[in-house]
Amino acid sequence: MPNKFETIIGLEIHLQLKTKSKMFCACANDAQNQAPNTLVCPICLGHPGTLPALNKEAVKMGLMMALALNCQIRKKSKFDRKNYFYPDLPKGYQISQFDEPLADEGFFVIERENGDNWSLGIERLHLEEDAAKNIHEKEETFVDFNRGGVPLAEIVTKPDIRRPEDARLFLEQLRLTARYLGVSDADMEKGQLRCDANISLRPLSDTKLYPKTEIKNLNSFKAVQRALEFEEKRQTKLWQEKKAPKKTETRGWDEDKKQTVAQRSKEGSSDYRYFPEPDLPPLLISDEFLQRTKNQLGELPLVKKERFIREYGLSAKDAWVLIRQKDWANYYEGVMSDLRAWLFKAKGAYPESDQAAKLWQEHKKKLAKLAYNWISSELFSLLGAHFKMEKLKISAENMAELVYLVYEKKINSSAGQIILKEMFQGTDDDPSRVAERLDLAQIEDDTTLEGIVMRVLVLFPDQAEQYRQGKTAVLQFLVGQVMKESKGKANPKKIEEILKKKLK
Ligand code: ZN
Ligand code: MN
Repeated sequence: MPNKFETIIGLEIHLQLKTKSKMFCACANDAQNQAPNTLVCPICLGHPGTLPALNKEAVKMGLMMALALNCQIRKKSKFDRKNYFYPDLPKGYQISQFDEPLADEGFFVIERENGDNWSLGIERLHLEEDAAKNIHEKEETFVDFNRGGVPLAEIVTKPDIRRPEDARLFLEQLRLTARYLGVSDADMEKGQLRCDANISLRPLSDTKLYPKTEIKNLNSFKAVQRALEFEEKRQTKLWQEKKAPKKTETRGWDEDKKQTVAQRSKEGSSDYRYFPEPDLPPLLISDEFLQRTKNQLGELPLVKKERFIREYGLSAKDAWVLIRQKDWANYYEGVMSDLRAWLFKAKGAYPESDQAAKLWQEHKKKLAKLAYNWISSELFSLLGAHFKMEKLKISAENMAELVYLVYEKKINSSAGQIILKEMFQGTDDDPSRVAERLDLAQIEDDTTLEGIVMRVLVLFPDQAEQYRQGKTAVLQFLVGQVMKESKGKANPKKIEEILKKKLK
């Protein structure tokens, strides 16, 4: 039976900004690493008579995120008090932005796993302070005020998402963008990125929106997708049974049972009795500040990916591997720029000359692919599954030299692997020096190679005879024996040629 319903999904995201201090006071923004209730002061504890002072860095980071989401930036926005009573809120209200957010009307381009792009509308981005954290233990509840007052950017998408998988992809690419900008680590498990997902269904060809269900307690990207898939099925069944939800509902995701469960019904915005924050002036964004912030955005992930494909001839899949971490993308580009230098040096080309430009055009894509292979397979496997850039002691320059030695067949790839391992474990040593020290330079001299080949043919007369009889598969065995005799330093292609010549 074809599905007669359309799924409508929108997301509300809270992104913790990585500022040094909190949103309205000088307390450090470091709740995750410090003992509870050590990062507090009268302002973030909401003592009477204290005044908030806006953190400019938080504004800048929120602005960067809003620009990356292609939002309209409001030259003048304001802060409001969102009133509610809860133990994690010492003032009895949260300072947020209600009807005049920092930015709105944006869009974000997302790439699906098959390479298709689609654009998700962004409703708004506003700044607000985080609440403290309730810690529930058995009979008691504790409150850690370290998190209270930490800056957040709240991002609300338009209800443009039609597939649960797209919701996950958006969040993953949003995290990547936040990391590229350096505004947040956006780790869901650590609560740096929190997401509520709204979902409703409607009959196909209907354009109206029906009461939505808000899913809370989503602690991972996978959980977002799973919870939405669960709700999609549950609500389809309700529609089929003509019992479609009549009012807005809040449900929590139960990770163990892999299902959503009903929670309290949601308060409408009128219940928060929003009113303008009297202790803060309107937030004015000058053209100069906006321009300066724009200049600091740098290259965003998808743009970088496209450039890697265009400039280096990498496949989309390979480019994705590199851009998933900004550090790696930068490392790769460092290696490429040093490979260029090695190429010019080896060929005696003056860097600015026409000859050099031609040389680079001729070799660039081959070098790019080789460098990609060495970094993504050999280097990544040495670093292990949870590799961190800080652990890497091999400079881009030395990595480039190693790749170039392989490219020029000065060493073969098995020698290259040995050298890389040595460089990885030791200090950042020149690969050519390591090759010399370990006696790994490839034997290029034909007379030496022919000598080794002859020795092997004497040692394995039966196999040599079999080859002459037409059993050509035995050639690989003989190549292997020569490699062994040469301690892995011979060029297998060359050996094959010499063997064929000698076995005629
Ligand atoms: Zn404080
Ligand atoms: Mn909020």
